Amino acid sequence: MVEPIPEDKLAGLDHAEVHYFNSYNHHGIHEEMLKDEVRTKSYRDAVINNRHLFKDKVVLDVGCGTAILSMFAVKAGAKHVIGVDMSTIIHKAREIVEANHMSDKITLLQGKMEDVELPFPKVDIIISEWMGYFLLYESMLDTVLYARDKYLDVGGLIFPDKATIFLTGIEDGDYKDEKIGFWDNVYGFDFTPLKDSALSEPLVDIVEMKACVTDPIRVLTLDLYSVTIEDLAFEVPFTLNIQRSDYIHALIAWFDIDFTACHVPIKFSTGPHTKYTHWKQTVFYLRDVLTVELGETVTGVLASKRNAKKPRDLDIKIDYKLETEDPTRQIEGSANYKM
Ligand code: SAH
Repeated sequence: MVEPIPEDKLAGLDHAEVHYFNSYNHHGIHEEMLKDEVRTKSYRDAVINNRHLFKDKVVLDVGCGTAILSMFAVKAGAKHVIGVDMSTIIHKAREIVEANHMSDKITLLQGKMEDVELPFPKVDIIISEWMGYFLLYESMLDTVLYARDKYLDVGGLIFPDKATIFLTGIEDGDYKDEKIGFWDNVYGFDFTPLKDSALSEPLVDIVEMKACVTDPIRVLTLDLYSVTIEDLAFEVPFTLNIQRSDYIHALIAWFDIDFTACHVPIKFSTGPHTKYTHWKQTVFYLRDVLTVELGETVTGVLASKRNAKKPRDLDIKIDYKLETEDPTRQIEGSANYKM
């Protein structure tokens, strides 16, 4: 039985927010995150291998879930850790902390980070695992920035403190056919109205490295010490260099995460070139197929902003143009996505 969040805690929250927080009540979602070893071991190493930074410090764990990061911080010598989470998983977190004899070192508060009152006016370190698909989907980065601005002491540290979004073009004919072309003929019927829906929804999936046709490029870097909520709506030009003669069916995005405060910097990537993470990659199918040659480029603009009605959702727009001398292959387009 999963314990729902009590009504009084949900007062004033809209339906989408209630749904969001309730989705973290169940142990299943925490199991998935904890078993993501790339994710969890990076946090563990970033904290445990930096005792000199954590020793005797007050630490705030934003969205503590099962309190895994809080317990890493205690192991690294923190004086006290405050974990905040709205979801009822925090009741289990309390039991877990107790079972690990850390109750005197960790204070867990149930509530929205934006509403709770902390037992310390300022903290030395903020730790948080806030990343969503495409880095920003359903993201709670706003909440981390709120906590930073309100509670982080001058000179305080944020773990992690850097996030970078990358983009590349892929050949994905077979799968695009299966997912998008499928709607052209369903048991002999024209189902193309659903093709538009399918095209406008980015797909979160694993992409093989060998599908990549262009060099990966960095499109956005967020410095967690200075980034503002306004910066999370962005519009950035890109140029992708074609690496071989092939077709491009989709652009894909992923992100890297850096803990630069560490003595030896620690980072992990969610890209196609490295170990699986539960974030996989985000695939944006293009309506057109680009027929590309080595040495050409695809230029364009990637834009993303929160959805006006559902602020945890994203409206993403990709403009693209194949830069080629060959008039028979020239093509440009623009696609809108919602996730
Ligand atoms: N730190 C844990 C859980 C990360 S998942 C781990 O690394 O395993 C993110 C957690 O943040 C969820 O449990 C979610 O309920 C919580 N959360 C998100 N936004 C929040 C907010 N505004 N206030 C309180 N908790 C929040």
